[in-house]
Amino acid sequence: MKEKYILALDQGTTSSRSLLVDAAGHIKSIAQKEFTQLYPKPGWVEHDPEEIWSSQWHTIQEVLKSNNLDFSDIAAIGITNQRETTIVWDKNSGRAVYNAIVWQDKRTAPECENLKAQNLETYVRETTGLVIDSYFSATKIKWILDEVEGARRSAEQGDLLFGTIDSWLIWKLTKGRSHYTDLTNASRTMLFNISTLEWDSEMLDVLNIPRKMLPRVKPSSSDFGFFDAGTDLIPICGVAGDQQAALFGQACLEPGMAKNTYGTGCFMLMNTGNKKVLSNNGLLTTLACSIDDRIQYALEGSVFVAGAAVQWLRDGLKIIEKASDSEKMAMSVKEAEEVFVVPAFVGLGAPYWDMYSRGAIFGLTRDTNGNHLVKATLDSLAYQTRDVLEAMIEDSGLRLKTLKVDGGAVVNNYLMQFQADILNVPVERPEVVETTAMGAAYLAGIYLNWWNYGDLVEEREVERVFTPLMPAANRQRLYLKWKDAVSRTRGWAKY
Ligand code: ADP
Repeated sequence: MKEKYILALDQGTTSSRSLLVDAAGHIKSIAQKEFTQLYPKPGWVEHDPEEIWSSQWHTIQEVLKSNNLDFSDIAAIGITNQRETTIVWDKNSGRAVYNAIVWQDKRTAPECENLKAQNLETYVRETTGLVIDSYFSATKIKWILDEVEGARRSAEQGDLLFGTIDSWLIWKLTKGRSHYTDLTNASRTMLFNISTLEWDSEMLDVLNIPRKMLPRVKPSSSDFGFFDAGTDLIPICGVAGDQQAALFGQACLEPGMAKNTYGTGCFMLMNTGNKKVLSNNGLLTTLACSIDDRIQYALEGSVFVAGAAVQWLRDGLKIIEKASDSEKMAMSVKEAEEVFVVPAFVGLGAPYWDMYSRGAIFGLTRDTNGNHLVKATLDSLAYQTRDVLEAMIEDSGLRLKTLKVDGGAVVNNYLMQFQADILNVPVERPEVVETTAMGAAYLAGIYLNWWNYGDLVEEREVERVFTPLMPAANRQRLYLKWKDAVSRTRGWAKY
């Protein structure tokens, strides 16, 4: 029998990608295509749903063609996607009634204020695990129904469908036969009860969203329908939002296991098992990937500015030419010289949630040079990660044994060592850094019985473990200084 592959679709915020994964769990090939970002007004971010689909389709064709394969070589399709981004389309014409409103879009901030004024914060937190924010899909759907002429009427008549990007791709791939989403994506809509695993009537009422628009929700590894390739029917059987897919791809399958993704920002998720932990520290509670009825929860915290601070060194301060220069420059600094950078360029996220904090540099002396600033900026990624992790530990009572890492900045060995030192936890960098796409592939492969849970843990190859080396007293002193630095940035933009 000829070798078959899983086709993993990774539909991200700036590009669509397709990966071929073989039965040994190795990536054979990747195709990628960027698509247009639309900024119609300040604070608004949109994507053209047809371009999302055409760019995704393009990469599917390309990855098959460049490997001399066709759909008969594909055993199954897995999907992972940018989360929260909202599409409403007409089920008869198949056309979206408005552009996709992207997770970053802030247009529904006033609607969120309105929900807060109705004292819904506690209800939203306890039911959906989220905080009231324009980030999530719920208010974006309401905006489309309110603002697009005739949309609400059509929705009430049952002609319109809502979906996050996973649902849109499933609907396109199945030519309109399947309208599904998975638990992880549903848990980012602010409409889903993460305890009963059902759409929440109260939230639907409050936002005046017709229930019939909503997709059916399934576990991440299940039957989402078929792509009809003419001669072959290819099952779509793994679906998860990007951060949950990465948690799964990193084999964080047990309570207390966590991964941190170091990209533009940092996204940290910790598996809390079958326990829904509600945070007292501004973290989100969300559904992790589930197989069958094994429901798993996660705590999630994000840092707004991580790799973006390295971009600031390059494009703003112009003291590095490329991001990778930062490693050597940081390593050239002696430990005694302590400069701190707090990159609160857009305020601070978890656990501070201070939109009035602003960036600051502390500890400047006459001999401070660019290398110190570079080191202090890299250090800030590690300190912010510790801030989020401390909150997770406090909320969950779980201890972290190792931190699994991925994302563009983890190639920086200085940063990874400092991260291990400041957490006093080993940091594990995997051989395959495509953890998000691999998460989707694993979910599909598990459904096919190619793999099971245990295989994922066993076969995951670690490229390098960074072991904590810093003496405890140093760690303690540095972290206290960081906390002090952060406290001095609080409320700055209020005046
Ligand atoms: P995103 O998915 O958010 O676009 P990526 O995972 O592609 O981000 O990572 C890119 C980020 O990583 C950029 O912000 C960049 O500044 C940072 N980065 C890339 N290489 C390095 C490096 N060697 N050291 C530190 N940061 C880096």
